[in-house]
Amino acid sequence: MTETFDSLNPANGDVVGTYPVHGADEVDAAVDRAHEAATWWSGLTFAERKEVLTTWKGVMTRRIAQLSHLVHEETGKPHGDAQLEIVLMLDHLSWAAGHARKVLGRRSVSPGMLMANQAATVEYKPLGVIGVIGPWNYPVFTPMGSIAYALAAGNAVVFKPSEYTPGVGTWLADTFAEVVPDHPVLQVVTGGGETGAALARARVGKVAFTGSTATGKKVMAAAAERLTPVIVEAGGKDALIVDEDADLVAAADAAVWGGMANAGQTCAGVERVYVHEKVYDDFVSEVLEQAGRVRAGSDSQAQIGPITMPSQVGVIASHVDDALARGGRALLGGRDAVGERFVQPTVLVDVPEDSLAVTDETFGPTLTIAKVADMDEAVARANASRYALGSTVFSSARGAEIAARLRTGMTAVNSVISFAAIPSLPFGGVGDSGFGRIHGPDGLKEFTFAKATARQRVKPPMLLTSFSRTAKEDGQLTQLATLLHGGSKTLPKAPRKGLRRSR
Ligand code: NDP
Repeated sequence: MTETFDSLNPANGDVVGTYPVHGADEVDAAVDRAHEAATWWSGLTFAERKEVLTTWKGVMTRRIAQLSHLVHEETGKPHGDAQLEIVLMLDHLSWAAGHARKVLGRRSVSPGMLMANQAATVEYKPLGVIGVIGPWNYPVFTPMGSIAYALAAGNAVVFKPSEYTPGVGTWLADTFAEVVPDHPVLQVVTGGGETGAALARARVGKVAFTGSTATGKKVMAAAAERLTPVIVEAGGKDALIVDEDADLVAAADAAVWGGMANAGQTCAGVERVYVHEKVYDDFVSEVLEQAGRVRAGSDSQAQIGPITMPSQVGVIASHVDDALARGGRALLGGRDAVGERFVQPTVLVDVPEDSLAVTDETFGPTLTIAKVADMDEAVARANASRYALGSTVFSSARGAEIAARLRTGMTAVNSVISFAAIPSLPFGGVGDSGFGRIHGPDGLKEFTFAKATARQRVKPPMLLTSFSRTAKEDGQLTQLATLLHGGSKTLPKAPRKGLRRSR
């Protein structure tokens, strides 16, 4: 009998669905089927793939209420938040399908002077089958950041959703299969970490992983057995910086939403805030006022839901405990705010920079707020993290300047997490936040390999790549190199003329 596991509603423990635990053999079989599907899918034109993906987008859009409800049940997040992540996903799918040809299709490039007789082209070919290992916090938006772009680039996908959100993953594959019933271009395998590990070891062209840094390392090690490249999107400890001239109400709104929306379970969510000392008190009051109106619960009035992964509650509690034990103060929430399933908004100040609440990913509705003397200190503290996914700056005059100094993959200026909703912008981090990019042209190219072609148009004046090359041609080559790379200041005029004549 097939082993199964239950997907539970984190708000109340109800069973939402029961799914098979797929072992290595089943994962390998899915990947084998995907290779056949990939042959068909990659053989379609960009326009044909766009048509399929657009039809799928329409199916999902028309059933948005159904998918939102499933996301709500499996993650506990409010229906409105579930719908938001789905709408953003649809926008990305649309962009990926619409831009794949322009970004990946064959184009001519200059062959350069030495090889002027050649026609040079580059195109980006699909890798075949992509293994996607997804998280539970945004079970539609996040994995689709890989799936949509991988499909648009001409790959088949085998997707292992988190064991907390298998229903959402299955729904995505089922609706795709309604559009493409004859070819398993998008398949789902369900199970826990072992199933994910089997996918990372399988015969795939690339693994796109989203989750913790620790698991990302395991995935990378497993993929290394076959020299399979990986993308690791591994969360962050994102900072929001508030300059002295910032709109404090807007900055507080961004800090509270960026830190507490989705109960803080956002890889690019705000976890730390650094505020110019001149506006610190006013900013903190504004945050307390706004955050005080946010409540976690399962009723329709609650703005945030439960903590989706039960073990995360312990992590959040340990970060709050550590902050308080080391001299931090909870101006809102605190240890009592951490319940069994729900965590109420918590605002911590005076927290030492080396405490867990500042150094490690909390993934709960908590914020640390610290006072800084100037923006140099704010940038230095923000950049001190080993994570480097996103960041946010609020400043009227110097937003772009401060943003440029932040060593993170993305920065939002005078708004929060906006970069994730712009399909043409790449999304990903550096450091412990991982590497590789989803979204945008980079996200399409991520699921391809570059194919370069040099076609000889006419015979070259000097045949460089042949044993028939003469000493005279070697001399001409030296002169040409001097002309091209010798530096204009020292270049004597005579050889230049000579070379021109000899061409
Ligand atoms: P994990 O990194 O353990 O899980 C992410 C995905 O990887 C899940 O699908 C998981 O499956 C799968 N997985 C687990 N073990 C392996 C393995 N050995 N090989 C391949 N795949 C594997 O994250 P958690 O869900 O346990 O969350 C832990 C922490 O990670 C959170 O506290 C948070 O800080 C961070 N996180 C960051 C996310 C982000 O968006 N960047 C998303 C989720 C978590 P399964 O769920 O079935 O175990």
